[in-house]
Amino acid sequence: MGVLLTALQRSLGARATGQLALGTLAFAAVCLIVAMSPVRAETRFRVTLLGTGTPLASATRFGPSTLVEAGDQILLFDAGRGVPIRLAQLHIPSAKINLLFLTHYHSDHTSGIADIWLTGWTTGGGGRKAPFQVIGPTGADALMRNLEKAYAKDVEIRELDENLPPEGAKIDVKEFDSDTVVYEKNGVRVTAFSVDHGPKIKPSYGYRIDYGGHAAVISGDTRFSPNLIRHAAGADLVVHEVMADPVGPLTPALKAIMDHHSSPRDAGRVFDAVKPKLAAYTHIIAPDDPAAADQLIKATRETYSGPLEVGADLTSFDIGNTVIVHHGAP
Ligand SMILES: [Zn+2]
Ligand SMILES: [Zn+2]
Repeated sequence: MGVLLTALQRSLGARATGQLALGTLAFAAVCLIVAMSPVRAETRFRVTLLGTGTPLASATRFGPSTLVEAGDQILLFDAGRGVPIRLAQLHIPSAKINLLFLTHYHSDHTSGIADIWLTGWTTGGGGRKAPFQVIGPTGADALMRNLEKAYAKDVEIRELDENLPPEGAKIDVKEFDSDTVVYEKNGVRVTAFSVDHGPKIKPSYGYRIDYGGHAAVISGDTRFSPNLIRHAAGADLVVHEVMADPVGPLTPALKAIMDHHSSPRDAGRVFDAVKPKLAAYTHIIAPDDPAAADQLIKATRETYSGPLEVGADLTSFDIGNTVIVHHGAP
């Protein structure tokens, strides 16, 4: 407490010699202790972009993945390339992930699953002792059962050699096939809703997370989606995918990709309809440089004038009466 008071005194610039000043200091100390207490952690509603990238291999934008910390729950949405590394930067062991939600089955959203599942089971990853929980649209069970087959030898070896508990390598899967509440626990509710990733890329879903009277929405991969607008009504934060306007000739391959994703103007139409406290971009199909980010913002401004953030890996959002943005690992 003495150290805390001294630190507080210094940070407040106080010259606390009188009764009043000491009283103020003590009050500030109590506030600080309350602010640092577990109670605050349990009421936290934070969304962190672990990976804002695409299938393109990038050292700055890892594969698509979004972490949601709501009360005592830690939820992961998609597991792209590099998830355990971004979690490590946040000092969160892979084993702490209670639940993985999947939006769809493009490999950029799933290629990190085996890593988070098995790394979380190892002692170094936190030593998960209970089954890894996965919730996803139809196809999740086949994906996870096939991963179990692919990694059967690793599981067998680690059980024999490291005595890792078999229960921690198991996978529980829950599938859904329509818009529905897919998870509800300790005040956290997760609703899945279908989005439009093109006629051949089905199923494809987004998620809405409600906690403490606030809500965050994750678009998943989608072009302009009225169903997303419906499900995002009243959301504080909307995290949306985007594809920048192409530079150069529009090849058939490029046009096909554009048909599966949202232009900045289309995402802006969504933001304008929902009017969240903050709109943010992830899954950014654009060069990772400030000029490209400026261009994204400029194009979005044709249809949306509200608060907007172009996400980077480890950008996080604290959701409350306002949405506070943090950049990078703490
Ligand atoms: Zn996709
Ligand atoms: Zn994708």
